[in-house]
Amino acid sequence: MRQYHRIKRAHPDALLFFRLGDFYEMFYEDAVIGSRELEITLTSRNKDRDGGPIPMCGIPYHAASNYLSKLLKRGYKVAICDQVEDPRQAKGIVRREVTRILTPGTTIEEGVLDSKQNNFVAALYSSDAALAASFLDVSTGEFWTSEFRATERWEALQETLAHFQPAEIVVSEHQAKEWKAKFRNQGVCKEAVQTPADEWTFHFDFAERLLLDQFNVSSLEGFGLGDGREAISAAGALLHYVRQTQKCELNHITTLSLLQPSDYLKMDDSTVQNLELVRGMDGNRRWTLFSTLDHTRTGMGARLLRAWILRPSFSLEEIDQRLDAVEELSNSLIGMKRLGQRLDQVHDLERLLSRVTLKTANARDLLALRDSIAALPGIQEELQGYTANRLSPDFDRLADVGEDLFRSIRDDPPATLSEGGLIRPGYHKELDELREIAQSGKSFIAALEAKERERTGINSLKVKFNRVFGYFIEVTRAHLDSVPSDYIRKQTLAGSERYVTPELKEYEEKVLGAEERIVELERELFLQVRERVASQAPRIRKVASILARLDVLLSFAEVSAKNRYIRPQLEESAELVIRNGRHPVLELERDEPFVPNDLVCNTSSDQMLILTGPNMGGKSTFLRQNALIVIMAQMGCFVPADEAKIGLVDRIFTRVGASDNLARGQSTFMVEMIETARILNTATPRSFILLDEVGRGTATFDGLSIAWAVAEYLIEQSHRKARTLFATHYQELTRLEEHHPGVRNYCVTVKESAGRIIFFHRVQAGVASKSYGIEVARLAGIPAPVVERARQIVNRLERKQLNLTGQPRSSTINGSDFAELQQALF
Ligand code: ATP
Repeated sequence: MRQYHRIKRAHPDALLFFRLGDFYEMFYEDAVIGSRELEITLTSRNKDRDGGPIPMCGIPYHAASNYLSKLLKRGYKVAICDQVEDPRQAKGIVRREVTRILTPGTTIEEGVLDSKQNNFVAALYSSDAALAASFLDVSTGEFWTSEFRATERWEALQETLAHFQPAEIVVSEHQAKEWKAKFRNQGVCKEAVQTPADEWTFHFDFAERLLLDQFNVSSLEGFGLGDGREAISAAGALLHYVRQTQKCELNHITTLSLLQPSDYLKMDDSTVQNLELVRGMDGNRRWTLFSTLDHTRTGMGARLLRAWILRPSFSLEEIDQRLDAVEELSNSLIGMKRLGQRLDQVHDLERLLSRVTLKTANARDLLALRDSIAALPGIQEELQGYTANRLSPDFDRLADVGEDLFRSIRDDPPATLSEGGLIRPGYHKELDELREIAQSGKSFIAALEAKERERTGINSLKVKFNRVFGYFIEVTRAHLDSVPSDYIRKQTLAGSERYVTPELKEYEEKVLGAEERIVELERELFLQVRERVASQAPRIRKVASILARLDVLLSFAEVSAKNRYIRPQLEESAELVIRNGRHPVLELERDEPFVPNDLVCNTSSDQMLILTGPNMGGKSTFLRQNALIVIMAQMGCFVPADEAKIGLVDRIFTRVGASDNLARGQSTFMVEMIETARILNTATPRSFILLDEVGRGTATFDGLSIAWAVAEYLIEQSHRKARTLFATHYQELTRLEEHHPGVRNYCVTVKESAGRIIFFHRVQAGVASKSYGIEVARLAGIPAPVVERARQIVNRLERKQLNLTGQPRSSTINGSDFAELQQALF
């Protein structure tokens, strides 16, 4: 227990898995948490001792993986404390040390990782001059850093966090409280665990030295980090943290990329969520843009696709290169199929490689690597005919690595390294000889037995083996007289004597040694091979990234062909012209045909489109589909439309729907206003803004006034004059068209027939006559008397309003309009 306490003191914030024999045990508070979270029995030890019993629970070490996954998914950190010397050789208590610390953001446990999703850990750093964020995926080796200096640095940081969606965030101890409050208030990174780290790990000198060592360079300028002091501090602290958790070299981290926000189309957390890009409102992946576009064959392809969705490009050149490739690929159905079949042979090279360099890869992992490499020539062959820049077949075949693996690793190795069976026959001479000896055991014994029987004339003589005495010759008591003089007596039993001979002794040493040596030698040889592969990490990584890109481009080509997407035209202008655009997800989800719609939007004549129409008419769908089309286009994918001209968009903002954020203690309306404020403070003339109801969460006149003022601000402030789609039930807003040349009114069409409404979902110029809220309420099953009474009220209200002002006013009533309501009713 002294040993336990010493180790636990060094890891106060992690659950300590303490190895005792075949179990990992937890004690004290850790045991209470562990037994609750893992649903295992809580026992205790030292029941009779002073200080009372110690709570304890344990799990078998070989089943640890499942339990670890569970704890990590729930945000716990786990320190694995192993026995670091052979118990047979230990004097006194076996030495134990923490060999790995598993945390939600740094784990490489397969049960925790999602192959289609990166698992980033982030480090944030703030100084008076800048905010910095660094991101690292230990399972793939991707390493990014960024720095924000402008006045909108907090917004920029939020967008970056939305892109990377880290599972864990490391901040300096000293700033931890501040960050926590900021995140809570803004509802950022709700699912990430926060880890405080020592302040000094963020010091520039320390961080810089660590990075220089990691990349073996004398300056970080080559990474574009000449003067990014904060970016370096964050990256260095992050690398230090990850090294501490992994407790080994991180050779697969071969480069650090400086994130240039100006290269990407930016979106904040709520936009990513509102547009259901990678996760639906129900938290699932089904019916998202990701699930619609994902035809990738490899985990690395799926992860890149996800990264492209969260970080569409803002570079015309990059987008066009991707589109060229997609176009060329989609021209040949057979070509796509063949290339797909080849890519099917490729495993997740990135994660295999990280297991190799982190020394957790087993022989099966190396085989998967070997098979992936074997697929490379075929892929190159398939790519021969293509001309698009992104489809070059000119990449490293890794032939030497493949050859090495082919020669060394057996075809059907076990998952562990401790039982042999890893190395291919013919690879190593000594190993072959040892195997020969071990395998020839049976025939040798049979031959020896026959020879000795003949020599002694004892037919019942047997050559046997047991663990205590090894090999021996057994002769029953009746035949003791015939035992030759060179037999050496070993043991006397009731009915027999046991002997050895020099020949048998020599054989025994060879065989028993051989078995043990084989396992040991195989392990040694395996580790050598794994080391050799690890030393080629940068080459393998490069190939992995080429294949990931190819996988995504092919996926785009396939999905475009299948869903009748067309190539968008990207340009530097501020135009957005979409003919017969469709919602990529909804059109697949629905059984009935989807009604396509047009969009013309720019920063001059059609800057703000005010969209009115009945509930359920299709306003939100129209807004979202246009945002999704822009995102798809800037990812380099074809789009669901007949024609699309897209002037590059730097940011997409959404203010859609309303949900309370009770956890962060904010009302629906507060959340709505925070999102609106963010838009008004950060939009640029290149942005694309979707406003789906603004001001709905408060009193009618307050809300309408806010909506009006927000619209005016976006129309009039030249530095915020962004392309905007504004869906609203405030009919009054349509009057903006009269005062501002850039405002256009659109509405979704419906037909009223025999007291029922038919939704056409068609967007056309004009103003909706009414909202049909009561009709929708009836459709939803509101009891008839309530519907009837509502009709009565609305009639009187409308009449009253017309009488009073001579023109229609809001038809929406809520709390503080009670006086008006009363007036209208009576
Ligand atoms: P509310 O004002 O109540 O928010 P809305 O006008 O925003 O309503 P949506 O939520 O966009 O309406 O659409 C309602 C439903 O109508 C969608 O779930 C979809 O099933 C269907 N719909 C919308 N647009 C189309 C379309 N273009 N083609 C076919 N169906 C559509």
